[in-house]
This record gives sequence, C-alpha cells and structure tokens, in this order.
Amino acid sequence: EVKKQGKNGYHFFSRQLNDEMIEKIRLEGDLRKAIERNELTLYYQPQFWSQDNRIIGVEALIRWHHPDKGVISPSLLIHIAEESGMIYEIGNWVLRTACSQMVQWHKEGGPLIPVSVNLSSQQFHHANLVENIQQILRETGLEPRYLELEITESMMMDADLSTGVLNELNNLGIRISLDDFGTGYSSLSYLKLFPIHKLKIDRSFIADITHNENDKALVATIIAMAQNLKMDVIAEGIETKDQLDILTANECHEIQGYYFSKPLPANEVEKVFFEPARIAAPST
Ligand code: C2E
Ligand code: MG
Ligand code: MG
Ligand code: MG
Repeated sequence: EVKKQGKNGYHFFSRQLNDEMIEKIRLEGDLRKAIERNELTLYYQPQFWSQDNRIIGVEALIRWHHPDKGVISPSLLIHIAEESGMIYEIGNWVLRTACSQMVQWHKEGGPLIPVSVNLSSQQFHHANLVENIQQILRETGLEPRYLELEITESMMMDADLSTGVLNELNNLGIRISLDDFGTGYSSLSYLKLFPIHKLKIDRSFIADITHNENDKALVATIIAMAQNLKMDVIAEGIETKDQLDILTANECHEIQGYYFSKPLPANEVEKVFFEPARIAAPST
C-alpha cells in the first residue's frame, strides 16, 4: 500500500510539474501576443506627503489583463518576461509610457511630479540600459530629475558593475531608490558607496507595525539611517490610520499605500490631480 501511495505521489508530482510547465509556455506565448495586441497597461499609484496630503509622485505598475485568465500578477508577468527574453522590450515600453504620461499630464495642467519605474534585474544589467533611458527621455521630453528608477538590494551585489551604471544614471540627473528595502542582503556599506537617493521601506515591515515592536524598531532605525545619510525615505503599504500615525511619529512623511490610494489607471489619477478633495479625506 505504501508503495502504491508513493507511486501515486510520484505520478501526481510529475503531472503537476508538467502542467506547470505547459502553463508557463502558454503564458509566454500569450505574453508575446499581449505585447502585439496592446493588452499591457500601466497603472499609477500616487505617493503623498502626509503632512498636507499633497501628491508628490507616482509609481508606475504594470498590469496585464489576460483575455481568459483575467489579471495576471505583475511578479509572474515579470518572471516570464525575464525567462523568455521579453523583459527588455516590456521594460522599455514601461519606461516610455510612464515618461510620456508625466509630460502629458503636465501639458494638461497637472502637476509636474516624478514617476518611479521598477527595473528588473536583467534590465538593470543590460549593457544598453543607460543609452536606452537617455533616448527615451529625449523622445518623451521628460527631464531626467522627474524619473526615479527603483532597484532592489540584490541587484547591487556585483558592486563594480552597479557602481558604473548607477554613477552614469546619477550623472544624468536620474534618481535611484532602493525598493523593498530591508528584505534583501545588501551590505550597509553599499548605501554610501552608491548614489542612492531614497529608501523605500518594504511593506512587510509595515503590515504588523502597530502590534510588532520589532518591526516598529526596525522601521524607526531605517528612517533614522536615511536621515543621517541625507536620503529620502518613503513607506510602502500603508493601509490604516494607525500605521500612518507611527510613520508620522517617526518623521517619515512620504507615504504610498491603499490608505491614500490604490494603483489607478491613468484617467483616474487625473481625477486625483484635479479633484484633490477626493483624497484629502481618506475613508477609513
Ligand atoms: P513593488 O515595486 O514593491 O510595488 C508595490 C506593490 O505593492 C504593488 O504591487 C502595489 O500594488 C502594492 N501595494 C501598494 N500599496 C499597497 C498596500 O497598501 N497594501 C498592499 N497589500 N499592497 C500595496 P503590484 O502592482 O502587484 O506589483 C508587484 C511587484 O511587481 C512590484 O512590487 C514590482 O516589483 C513588480 N512590478 C510591477 N510593475 C513592474 C514593472 O513595470 N517592471 C518591473 N520590473 N517590475 C514591476
Ligand atoms: Mg516598486
Ligand atoms: Mg519593485
Ligand atoms: Mg516595493
């Protein structure tokens, strides 16, 4: 009987693996078509200065609405794109769309605010990254200081490579922020080695901050460190007033999270610009 179970277990396992692989290959093909059919869109999550509820920036976040499967998680999408070599094309589309949207909003009377764009690891290590970004800025007419690139700690592991790229980007006037800060394995010495402008406190530290003293202490430490290193600091994943109050008490005023706004399609962000009262009084 045991043997039989084992055998079934094995069959089940291999069939499952196989299914996962087939699913992945399908998604890869679908993603290729999605690019051609313009099924990818960008959402924008507003970031706020919590002292006066002023919008101070937006983070561009990719969305793929699959015709049959519905919304595909961005993390999965990026993973597939990296494995199949589509990441550079998609990444450039994200950069171009985000930059031109910022220029467009400003033309329409909206505020001129920076846009944060996530870079994947492969994108960051691509030999033409800097040239490509320069070209996109030229084509869209966005000033470099209104572009903020989000990288993660693990991307800086190859210090020599990163120093070169980050210094070039910095010399162009582009800002760099460290996304998901605190979850990676970077050495603290990187923070003074590289031109990093902002730390983004990962939302895993925020989730339990009202109950967990350790998380609270870690967040306070990150904020103090950013201040001492003359970096900006933003908290991600703020969902409640209690969480916001702790960040405020610790002098972190740049806030991104559902408490103020979820990621929105472009036309809904416009409403936030032009009817600021809508977000001046969060509902929870
Ligand atoms: P991320 O860069 O850390 O982006 C923030 C994520 O947190 C977004 O998830 C956002 O929707 C979510 N979020 C924001 N506020 C809250 C909150 O208050 N509560 C909760 N529970 N979540 C909140 P999303 O859009 O699903 O994206 C997931 C990840 O996928 C991103 O994490 C980013 O690493 C990656 N990603 C998204 N768009 C792109 C892109 O254009 N390029 C690259 N390379 N990666 C992207
Ligand atoms: Mg991000
Ligand atoms: Mg990210
Ligand atoms: Mg993050």
